Amino acid sequence: MTSNPLTIRMHDRDNVAIVANDGGLPAGAVLASGLVLTDRVPQGHKVALVDIAQGAPVLRYGIPIGRAIKRVAAGSWVHERLLALPDARSLDGLPLATVKPAGLSPLAGYTFEGYRNADGSVGTRNILAITQTVQCVAGVTDFAVRRIRAELLPRYPNVDDVVALEHGYGCGVAIDAPDAIVPIRTLRNISLNPNFGGEVMVVSLGCEKLQPERLLPPGSFSIVDARSGADAGQGAEAALDVVCLQDEAHVGFMSMVDSIVRQAEGHLARLDGRRRETVPASELVVGVQCGGSDAFSGVTANPAVGFCTDLLVRAGASVMFSETTEVRDGIEQLTARATTPEVAQAMIREMAWYDAYLHRGSADRSANTTPGNKQGGLSNIVEKAMGSIVKSGSAPISSVLAPGEKLKAKGLCYAATPASDFICGTLQLAAGMNLHVFTTGRGSPYGLAAVPVIKVATRTDLARRWHDLMDVNAGRIADGTASIEEVGWDLFHLMLEVASGRRKTWAEHWKLHNALVLFNPAPVT
Ligand code: CA
Repeated sequence: MTSNPLTIRMHDRDNVAIVANDGGLPAGAVLASGLVLTDRVPQGHKVALVDIAQGAPVLRYGIPIGRAIKRVAAGSWVHERLLALPDARSLDGLPLATVKPAGLSPLAGYTFEGYRNADGSVGTRNILAITQTVQCVAGVTDFAVRRIRAELLPRYPNVDDVVALEHGYGCGVAIDAPDAIVPIRTLRNISLNPNFGGEVMVVSLGCEKLQPERLLPPGSFSIVDARSGADAGQGAEAALDVVCLQDEAHVGFMSMVDSIVRQAEGHLARLDGRRRETVPASELVVGVQCGGSDAFSGVTANPAVGFCTDLLVRAGASVMFSETTEVRDGIEQLTARATTPEVAQAMIREMAWYDAYLHRGSADRSANTTPGNKQGGLSNIVEKAMGSIVKSGSAPISSVLAPGEKLKAKGLCYAATPASDFICGTLQLAAGMNLHVFTTGRGSPYGLAAVPVIKVATRTDLARRWHDLMDVNAGRIADGTASIEEVGWDLFHLMLEVASGRRKTWAEHWKLHNALVLFNPAPVT
């Protein structure tokens, strides 16, 4: 325990502050203001700075995060059981594109070394992805991928990896239900992620509902002709490379595996011929999200990411923030920051869709917070959301994506996704993310096979214990040894190093690969 009690208050209006000291503070500790704690207050948890009457708002980030269910005396621990959750803001009468942020000055001269693709996008890694139409083929594909790694990859040293895009979809699903478009376009767009170099290869079972032509219809992709190496262009003449396991030509398991390995070799040869080239930082497509959050997420890591988001937008890059239930309580700020009323309306449309989705399952946004969030000091979803949306920085929001859609615009985008780490990451991959930033306070070893994941710790204690899992320590902000701006710039420079392949993230080093998890709001059969 440090001798100096340290608390952090986010806004002048706040009637609570959080305890910053490792291990928390004991009853009797005296704050700099002279206030004496009447309870032990754990690290990251709130202390009442003044007497709060029963029914009065508890203010953090300058907004009511709840109402006191009984009188709370100054110096008391304000835990989640003392707070009543306010209703969600109605989606009617929101401010639409009312804030005109002071123009962010362009940031020129930053570059990275990336793989330029035929469609103009840029990869940060050079990976062969094997798309699958259905879960049934996952075991066979995995067997083949292990052979490809062992037998072929050493001969193609410029290829970083071979990745099987395993998922649970493809059959046993109501594929004609309107919402089935979400998982289908997610899979389609992931197979076209810039890190896969435009090499599309599919393993199909044969009898599944999601037929290869439905997953990747002619014209939805551009592929390189396997024989000539020339771009076969968009349209019907571009034949999809499919290995179908039920094909009568296959006799026995090894015949299927051989077929996958043989097809992979052509793709590997082309990928291996590619070289990194210097491209502007504007080619970054960054997805930001948080997971395992605590009360420091909104104080250290997320504000640093938000500062970095502004740097990226100033550099002309694309940045996505997501996690619908974690922005729902900040909707008023977000619709105000939209560049146009149409963008604000698109954001409202996504929120309304998600409200209805939760309602169908007899749930609401309050289902979001976890036991770990609460142990970490986050009392409820309002407090969590206020800390979460600061990842979006201060730039105007210029586009909105529905789940699974592909991002085509530069600037700051609201990509609507669930907050679930794996589903959010999967949908950001589909949107075309080539670099991922993930903040965590409780600690998550999260990683993806398809894209580098830079992990940012909210506390120095976590960064010290998880020294070989966390890439950036934003806890320095709470310690007073670095500013939000300094950590934001560190993250920006690290992004360019990682994107260039000069640095590996810890998740890449250890090959920590979480599953792709599709968002399927449609029924299964
Ligand atoms: Ca998340």
